[in-house]
Amino acid sequence: MTQVLILGAGYAGMRTAKILAKKAPNDINITLIDKETYHTEKTNLHEVAAGTISPDRISYDIREVLPERINFLNAEVVKIDVDHKCVYLKGQDNPLEYDQVVICLGFKSESFGIDGVEQYSLPLDTLDAAKNVWNSIEQSVKRFNETKDERDLNIVICGAGFTGIEVLGELANKLPELQQRYQTPSIKVTCLERATSILPMFSKELGDYTLNFMSKHNINMILGAEINGVSDRKVSYKLNDEEKELEASTIVWTVGVSGSDIMEDSNLPAKRGRVIVDDHLNLEDHPEVYVLGDVAAVMDPTSNRPYPVTAQIALSQATYAAKRISKTLDNKDFDEKYEYHSLGTVASLGDRDAVAETSLAGKTIKLKGYPASALKKVITDKSLYKDANISTMLKKGRYDLWK
Ligand code: NAD
Repeated sequence: MTQVLILGAGYAGMRTAKILAKKAPNDINITLIDKETYHTEKTNLHEVAAGTISPDRISYDIREVLPERINFLNAEVVKIDVDHKCVYLKGQDNPLEYDQVVICLGFKSESFGIDGVEQYSLPLDTLDAAKNVWNSIEQSVKRFNETKDERDLNIVICGAGFTGIEVLGELANKLPELQQRYQTPSIKVTCLERATSILPMFSKELGDYTLNFMSKHNINMILGAEINGVSDRKVSYKLNDEEKELEASTIVWTVGVSGSDIMEDSNLPAKRGRVIVDDHLNLEDHPEVYVLGDVAAVMDPTSNRPYPVTAQIALSQATYAAKRISKTLDNKDFDEKYEYHSLGTVASLGDRDAVAETSLAGKTIKLKGYPASALKKVITDKSLYKDANISTMLKKGRYDLWK
């Protein structure tokens, strides 16, 4: 029997499985493999990190939502051997063989070789990592009344990319409540960002709106600050050629991501865990190997650089790959090349505010405040509906759009 393996049950893996279940010929055996038993909506990790929602709101049991014809294997992939068409799993001597494989193993936080990052700062790349961030914030604030150590009321967010900005947005809403609960002086939040402006993919107007939001919520944005080391409750950085330090009990690392280590461990031609794919999202010379999502580098013909990794592009790649695999396995031609058309981007600023750029009839539309925030919620609900099911969307979705 023809075997299709899908490696990773993130956005790309879940979407691929869902479409293959409907479209692949009936005599194909399809297996989805993940080291966890649950899927995490990683675009919402910042909410768990800031304690604004519980972890179960952004995760769901994979088995509960998978169509019956998809097998689920709860196992850890350690290596892919594309020459012998097989996948090695942790603790198992015999590899699994495949006819077609879809590699979508996701991202991890990247330290860029900066000293002390792994030991002394908290990444934000998994559900457990997000729980750790919230735990550190809450425990430090709670502890302050005994320690009177100022560092317990200081939080440093490293990097003002999308992740950093979205965490800051949530914290702006959550921290006054935390301060009230533990009756502490104000909690100080500082963000260190190397660039001298933020959100370069948005217009200056939306960047300024975001900076105003931060200033209104007493978040100290230090731009032009290059972090060069992290040690015990301390971040070192360079600002205008001057070496500086900040002390904090919670240091969150949102300075960038790379694709899964398994890409390099498998000797695939990866750079920072990402492999350049061809027009059909295949590994070069391997039409049976699809690489999707955060481990794939798809070239943007306009900029001649890879598109940034987002859930949106992962879902669009999965839709394409699943259709192509289904046609190929049905012995039909499918020569259409993969093309990406971004629907726009949203960065949330807490539960009621956001900035967004989207396009309608070829025109760029800029949104800020409530409408942008509502758009983000619609995107979250749509993803839960399409990749899980309607009951998961009803249980975990966001409906308070206009409160
Ligand atoms: P990022 O790479 O987008 O941002 C990292 C930020 O850290 C950048 O602004 C960079 O200038 C800064 N930085 C890098 N090195 C530094 C240093 N030494 N000192 C100080 N600052 C430094 O990473 P991210 O925010 O984790 O996002 C990862 C990917 O996920 C991106 O492609 C992003 O677009 C995507 N994402 C999208 C959304 C969304 O669409 N809403 C949300 C989260 C993440």
